[in-house]
Amino acid sequence: MGKVIDYYGILRVSNNFVPIYGTIKRCPVGGETYTEDVDTCKIHGVKLIDAMDIVNAIRDIATESTR
Ligand SMILES: [Zn+2]
Repeated sequence: MGKVIDYYGILRVSNNFVPIYGTIKRCPVGGETYTEDVDTCKIHGVKLIDAMDIVNAIRDIATESTR
């Protein structure tokens, strides 16, 4: 069933600050991001990817670059 992720913070990625509020989902077709509680892209009608995986990947990169 649907999982709920509580995640608050701000990611710094390549000098850009990316605020993160709750769950972020990303369209695999157009790349739009949704912070709303939606499962499918409103434009393309495809299933959205939960961006937490992407966030974790970015965090790994960010952690290395600030070392
Ligand atoms: Zn889309």
